[in-house]
Amino acid sequence: MTALSKTYQRYLEPGFKPFDPLELASKTEQIVCRGDSRKYTKFYCPGVYGGIATGFTCGCCLRCIFCWVDWSRDFPEKHGLFYSPAEAFSRLSRVARKKRITQSRISGAEPTIGKSHLLALLEKIEYSPFRLFILETNGILIGADPDYARQLARFKKVHTRVSLKAGTPEAFTEKTGATPESFELPFHGIANLIEARASFHVAAMTADPRIVAKNERRSLLDRLASIDPALVDNLEEEVVDPYYTTLERLRHAGVSLPWD
Ligand code: SF4
Repeated sequence: MTALSKTYQRYLEPGFKPFDPLELASKTEQIVCRGDSRKYTKFYCPGVYGGIATGFTCGCCLRCIFCWVDWSRDFPEKHGLFYSPAEAFSRLSRVARKKRITQSRISGAEPTIGKSHLLALLEKIEYSPFRLFILETNGILIGADPDYARQLARFKKVHTRVSLKAGTPEAFTEKTGATPESFELPFHGIANLIEARASFHVAAMTADPRIVAKNERRSLLDRLASIDPALVDNLEEEVVDPYYTTLERLRHAGVSLPWD
């Protein structure tokens, strides 16, 4: 075990020490990126979005207690293989051809970790038969780096989905493990995407009162409206699903949710 992996933040447990998500992103990048290559665990076509060619990457800069992603999120050094942008593009194309679909995405972690890999992959997508690439992100790195939003806005086929985790700084720490100060980063990311005129929308678990209470939902909507009221109108509100990994992470965090 390396010194890095000994100090690496895994799933949350009661009494955890809040971490800086930018520091965790940098540590994660050291594990899951090598030059322009990035670790992926698998490529296939799940049924979401009506069928979408998906590359599942390793590693995230948050530790959401309701996260469904497999254990490569918490133990990225033990999972996945490195793929160059050309290799990842080739695997996505093969999956898409087999299913006769023209949309793609990266999921299974935080795709904005490894900026050079992502931008090189998007360059290939842009000049390919793919008609759409959905970038699912927690918005942390786009909030810390306005250039990231400008780079994404260059691609006409890229649509970004920013997934917000909480409506207040305290709830953000409870649910993601990140410091309360970092709560604002995804909102800065949204502002950066607007400024860059990128195609995007916002999602949040605000349809699930077990995860986002009524008052917290109101705070989140107010914060979004302070940036642009249209963000509230177009908000994608979702609920938590009881995946095995979600249930295990909730158990580790000492959180019990009622399931029907
Ligand atoms: S839910 Fe998304 S942002 Fe949260 S830990 Fe999982 S992959 Fe990361």
